[in-house]
Amino acid sequence: MSLAGHLEHIQAPYGARVAPLDADRSPAALAGATPRPGSGSGDGARPRILVVEDEPGYVEALTLGLTVEGFEVLGAGTLARAREVLREVDCDLVLLDVMLPDGSGLDLCRELHASTRTPVIVVSARSQEVDVVVGLELGAADYVTKPYRLRELVARIRSVLRRPGATDASRVVVGDLDIDLEGRTVARRGVPVVLSRREFDLLALLVERRGQVITRERCLDALWWGVDLADTRTLDTHVKRLRAKLEDDPAQPRHLITVRGVGFRLDG
Ligand code: CA
Repeated sequence: MSLAGHLEHIQAPYGARVAPLDADRSPAALAGATPRPGSGSGDGARPRILVVEDEPGYVEALTLGLTVEGFEVLGAGTLARAREVLREVDCDLVLLDVMLPDGSGLDLCRELHASTRTPVIVVSARSQEVDVVVGLELGAADYVTKPYRLRELVARIRSVLRRPGATDASRVVVGDLDIDLEGRTVARRGVPVVLSRREFDLLALLVERRGQVITRERCLDALWWGVDLADTRTLDTHVKRLRAKLEDDPAQPRHLITVRGVGFRLDG
């Protein structure tokens, strides 16, 4: 189907002219908006939707239609690209086509369900309705079947985003650890772990730069800024306690890694 065909189809319920929700959300202003890499989604104003779709006509029509509806829209034409985007940017919802050039969207659905609370709406072709069943079993929040109307899709997106816990950008999963940065809670394989204030601050610091080395100086500044620490081994004591609480084998940590002579890194 041509782009014009898609637009006609998915915008038909709105008529030829689609009014923006308010002046600040004009399509031009939204189209010019740049993604905020890694800054966390959910500023409350514009939920960020990742559209994983390989048909250019759908991508363009959805980008335009959802932008007009007040969403920030990112696109990915392959599973590989979608995984890249999701690593870089927090999204509030993923609209996930099943038939993609490099595999099945259902694989990504499974991955997302295991590692985040980012809700997924599965998009299936009418001829593959079995995908819907599998998608819901894999944790998809909802589904739409192609061809669908924009009005129906937007209603489903809004409904999913209203569900409690749907947009939880502050939650980070690191291996078997489930860390809620806002709620300041940690669970390990589902079991809550009690951390002191500074233990949590240290973990949060490492989580925010996951995979990167944080220097000892940076840790000390962040945790004990303005405090005259007579002995910087206090930091090592905190690292040791964190490992005892979070690692299977604190002597051979998988998450909280010491980078000798430099600092620490969170892996997993
Ligand atoms: Ca497709």
